[in-house]
Amino acid sequence: MIETKKLLFDNLHNFFGFDQFKGQQEDIITNILSGNDTFVIMPTGAGKSMCYQLPAMMSDGTAIVISPLIALMKNQVDQIRAFGSNDSIAHFLNSSLTKADILKVKNDVLSGDTKLLYIAPESMAKQENLDFLISAQISFVAIDEAHCISEWGHDFRPEYRKIRSVINQIGGKVPIIALTATATPKVQQDIMKNLQMQDATLYKSSFNRPNLYYDIRPKKQVIKEIIKYIKANTGKSGIIYCLSRKKVEEIAEALKLNGIKALPYHAGLEAKERASHQDRFLMEDVDVIVATIAFGMGIDKPDVRFVIHHDMPKSLEGYYQETGRAGRDGGEGNCIAFYAESDIMKLAKFMKDKPVAEKEIGLQILTEVVDYAESAACRRKQILYYFGETFNEAACNNMCDNCRHPKERFEAQEYLQIVIKAVKELNEKFNTEHIINVLLGEDNKSIQDFGHTKIKAYGAGKEQSRKMWESVIRQALLSGFLQKDIENYGLIKITKNGTTYLSNPTSLMFTMNKDYESDESADDEGHTVAAASDTVLFNMLKDLCKQIGKKNNVPPFVVFQEPSLQEMSTHYPISLDELKQISGVGAGKAQKFGAPFVELIKKYVEENDIDRPMDMVVKTAANKSAIKVAIIQNIDRKISLEDIADSKGLSYEQILTEVESIVSSGTKLNLNYYIDEVIDEDRQDEVFDYFRSADSDSIDDALAELGTDDYTREEIQLIRIKFMSELGN
Ligand code: ADP
Ligand code: MG
Ligand code: ZN
Repeated sequence: MIETKKLLFDNLHNFFGFDQFKGQQEDIITNILSGNDTFVIMPTGAGKSMCYQLPAMMSDGTAIVISPLIALMKNQVDQIRAFGSNDSIAHFLNSSLTKADILKVKNDVLSGDTKLLYIAPESMAKQENLDFLISAQISFVAIDEAHCISEWGHDFRPEYRKIRSVINQIGGKVPIIALTATATPKVQQDIMKNLQMQDATLYKSSFNRPNLYYDIRPKKQVIKEIIKYIKANTGKSGIIYCLSRKKVEEIAEALKLNGIKALPYHAGLEAKERASHQDRFLMEDVDVIVATIAFGMGIDKPDVRFVIHHDMPKSLEGYYQETGRAGRDGGEGNCIAFYAESDIMKLAKFMKDKPVAEKEIGLQILTEVVDYAESAACRRKQILYYFGETFNEAACNNMCDNCRHPKERFEAQEYLQIVIKAVKELNEKFNTEHIINVLLGEDNKSIQDFGHTKIKAYGAGKEQSRKMWESVIRQALLSGFLQKDIENYGLIKITKNGTTYLSNPTSLMFTMNKDYESDESADDEGHTVAAASDTVLFNMLKDLCKQIGKKNNVPPFVVFQEPSLQEMSTHYPISLDELKQISGVGAGKAQKFGAPFVELIKKYVEENDIDRPMDMVVKTAANKSAIKVAIIQNIDRKISLEDIADSKGLSYEQILTEVESIVSSGTKLNLNYYIDEVIDEDRQDEVFDYFRSADSDSIDDALAELGTDDYTREEIQLIRIKFMSELGN
């Protein structure tokens, strides 16, 4: 025994260069080396790979590692090869290989050089691979990310369900080790049953991640909130998760526009681009990656400081897994999720067309997310409860929003009794929603069908709100008085504790669920809140416009227009990048005129000790909306404004406004092909000269001076556009 122990440490040291095992690694490895089936549940970052890599090195033959993602396999094989002296030591077998590659893999395995063979479940089931595996010597089979087996997990993959039968076909009694970072008791059972490994030794470590701070915020002005947070944490690494590719692109764009080094990541990008974005994040060339959940499996960046969920995930397991990528080095890890009921509705709607059973499961899993978000109880306690652990919130150390900002508590003794009695009267055969409907004395079909208007509990809680009852039931579950039978439509049952409580009630303090929807009116993404502008600064900026204009021989309004100056004296941009965020200031204008402006503002801010608002105007990608791009392209092709307007469904007035806004933010447009057609040269010159000497860019002033008989408003506006474009840009 002592010898085996020494052998383990020697191998750990010699091959991997580590001197200590992490957590239960040593026991786990000993167990698999003894030929026992092994089930490992450890959180992300705990070092699960070692549990099969090391024993593979120490065994005769080849260990098969089943892993869901091709990218992950390659990554792991590269890592192993980096330790070894010979590339044959680890291989992967999947659809990305050429015929010649496959031949090499097979030769190395058959000759016994290969210790680890990574393979995707669907490749494993292929007949040609089966034949080959039967002839190879297999030391054991490792199933990584084993939660993919269960449809109750967050990442169900049907092909994972075939693994057992494939192993049986390969023949022999090879030991199995299954590993996962997230497994609720339900998923755990599913895995063991499906792999027929009910006798496996189970190693489960606590899922508590004491250094992570959990925070759920109402989803209001979310892009702005995210930008504010990142700007207050400049230089730190972070991940932002969104549910759709479109959102990923949009947010990555908004972050870039606001001077944040960010890149998108989702399955719609080309493999090469995706890999490069991931690398640049790992190499810290960018700070923030905006991603769908396609990003992150197996990512080992130890110093991710924040994980932001722009949208609530579909399951608490997913949430745990994704937040788990923060603070793997034990340092700061802020997990912020933005919650809106409307998002949950959307997710539920997506499930509408799924088969009944799948929909049922999906909705129940989703309900857990809602309960988690809306509850005012300790987040950590709730997460750990979900994974089957009991946790005392006192140990949270204020590392969640609900512990840090506790809500007022209320005496729940009487309410809890009412609930437990109702559950009892309903024979433990109904879910939360129905119980609450009964308590509130609602009248619906199912209450009628079951004759529940006639029971004692009917209307027994109608003095209280629905939210109140939701809060009580939620906390009764968390505190172990009630239990939810998730396999059975989420029916609520009474635990032993619950029964005891009925006969022996004591004082008990609960908190009321949160209300995220109270003032939703503020939910206008990307818009800036009006703030008073600094008139002293505004006047200084106006003077500067005049000076710069004179120097460049153009009127001041060609430099910057008043609304832009107004915004500058509200937001105090002190760099060209920030200046570009002011509306009406494009890259061109910032380059041409910007420097003295930011200099002046910077000096002003310093001298007057001004606290600049952190929330710089958030420039949304919409500023460069598709329509503007289309207009620019069409003008380049010398298409008449009328035709462009027609094709875009705009009025003539509207197209002039669009064109003008393109020009005034600094893009040069050559409209001469069109203007020469509609206004003769002399009249053009007259208006152009007028603007050259005018004090203001007002069209009314121009009309008054030039005469409404001779010129139309549109004509003046057209020349003004030409003027701005030629002189300003
Ligand atoms: P998991 O799969 O559980 O998320 P990994 O297998 O990716 O975790 O391991 C996480 C990190 O822990 C890796 O960087 C790995 O090198 C490191 N690690 C694993 N075992 C040890 C050990 N015994 N000593 C030091 N570091 C270890
Ligand atoms: Mg892993
Ligand atoms: Zn807490």
